This record gives sequence, C-alpha cells and structure tokens, in this order.
Amino acid sequence: MEEIKIFAPATVANLSCGFDVLGCCLDNVGDEMLIRKNDLQEIRITKITGQELPLETDKNVAGVAVKALLNKLKRHQGFDIEIYKKIKSGSGIGSSAASSAGAVFAVNKLLGTPFTAQELIPFAMEGERLASGNAHADNVAPALLGGFSLVKSYEPLEILKLPAPAELRMVILHPRIEVNTRDSRGIIRQNISLQKAINQWGNLAAFISGLYTEDYNLLGRSLKDEIVEPVRSILIPYFDELRKISIQKGALGFGISGSGPSVFAMCRGQEKAEAVKKAIHEFYQEKEIEFDLHLSKIGNEGVKILK
Ligand code: ADP
Repeated sequence: MEEIKIFAPATVANLSCGFDVLGCCLDNVGDEMLIRKNDLQEIRITKITGQELPLETDKNVAGVAVKALLNKLKRHQGFDIEIYKKIKSGSGIGSSAASSAGAVFAVNKLLGTPFTAQELIPFAMEGERLASGNAHADNVAPALLGGFSLVKSYEPLEILKLPAPAELRMVILHPRIEVNTRDSRGIIRQNISLQKAINQWGNLAAFISGLYTEDYNLLGRSLKDEIVEPVRSILIPYFDELRKISIQKGALGFGISGSGPSVFAMCRGQEKAEAVKKAIHEFYQEKEIEFDLHLSKIGNEGVKILK
C-alpha cells in the first residue's frame, strides 16, 4: 500500500466528571488526511487546507507524532502528509489530537500494521505535547480506539476502552472565540477539598457504570463537575443559559468539551438531539458571536479509512 486517505475524528475530553481521564470519539465531525510514502526518507507536511497551521514537520503535531512512531521502529521511510482541516484549532474538540491520531494510524497501516491501536497512543501523545505542552491522552485515545476511553494511569500508561450506548448523541456548540489550552489550564485551582473529590469520583464511577448498563438517565445525572467547570465556564459566553436551554429540551446533561470554548449537550436519541440543536441555534444566532454547531453519534471505530 502506497497511500491512504483517512477520516480523523474530533473528540470530546473530560465530559464533566472525568477531567483529564475521560473522552469520547465523534462520528461525523473530523478532518481528512491523505498520507503517502515518499522516497526521500523525510516526513513532509505537503498541504494543509481549512486552517493556518505550520507546514514545518517539527511544528505540526502530525509530523511530530509520525517521527515518534518511526523512531521506535528505527525505520527511515519517508511520508508526505496532506491535512484537510475541518476541526478548528483551539476549539476544544481535539483538533491537534485528530491530526496526531490520524497521522500515526495512517503510517501504521502503510507500514503493514506493526502496532495495535493501543500501542499507537503514546506516539500520538507526542503530538499533544507539542500542541499544549502536556502529553495528554484524553483526546488521542478515543480518536484511536473509538467509543469512550478512560485514562487509568499515565505511569504506566493504561487506557481502557469503554462501551458507547447506541442511542447517545452529542450536540456540540463551538462559539468562535479563542481559548488557549494553556491559558484555560492556568486558571484551574491545584488543590480541592476532600468533599469535592468524593463527589467527583462518585459521579465518574456512576457515569462508567451507566455506559455498561446503558442507563441513560444515570449518565445524565453523573455529568457533573464541581471542580473545573465553575472556573472555566466563565470563559464561555452564555454557558448557564445554554445549559438551561439544553436541559429544558431534554438533554441528559451539559458541559464543557475539553478546555472549551466548545460545549456539549449529551442526548438520548436523534429526535431529542435535533430539538436541542435547534434550540441552541435559535438562542445563539441572536448573539454577536460566530459559531459552529454539530450533532453526532459516538464514533465507535475511531480513525476511519476512506480509501
Ligand atoms: P485543540 O484542543 O482543539 O487540539 P489546542 O489549542 O490544544 O486545540 O491545540 C492547537 C495547537 O496545536 C495550536 O497552537 C496549533 O497551531 C498547533 N498545531 C500544530 N499542528 C497542528 C495540527 N495538525 N492540527 C491542529 N493543531 C495543530
């Protein structure tokens, strides 16, 4: 195989109760990438459309992630990478993770699949280190594994794939204001009370139980965050109103996607999700902020081969 075209999915990290450990993969929101072997023994980013992003290999997360993979294999094969960006950088739905995960998935396929999807995660995490200064896995893991994923620990790296109940839908609003991951980490308090920790791990455990038992109402009741959301939501215009509208229209729960500014409403069934999306659209179109609005199932496969 000389070249491959893939769909690199957007992801929602944190999901309220799982700050830095939980994430899920979207099904129809994502970038496309075309990757082909070259004879130059060089990794080149040859084309990027849709976003202003660095073409230098060492400044693009796709280049950095592929280099990490090839270093491990001690291979000198070169690749040309074309990135067709649909996910906006800094939106909080894993723009950098999509490129890192997509690139290592594609190169792995072109090399005859020496690594499993799980084994690709650390390479994609190197892309995240470049993007945010922190090699986090909560976006790249669901992008590579699909469904929901839980980062059990970083040392040693242990990541679990969790099931995604079929009727789940995510409505995602991206208000086009820029919130940098570094800035939005900076405002989080480093110490929390024991009571808040107890509440949070109760919610996270219940959420995971809800995924296995397909208890949609329990999922909704567990989408709570007393630790990070109260601080970060201040950066998101009309956060409280958006939550109120979503819940009124029947969403199971509502929260910040990753470090924001995107927010998500988790819904049961397409019909409810359409109603929530419509209500958010009507509310936001009257504001002076440009926005994107998506409705997606949970992507069970992660990165997908297009051709
Ligand atoms: P997100 O959380 O949506 O991934 P971040 O703000 O964390 O957004 O990361 C985006 C940063 O990564 C930007 O500084 C961007 O220039 C950089 N970057 C480098 N290569 C890429 C790429 N291929 N796709 C997206 N962002 C990239």
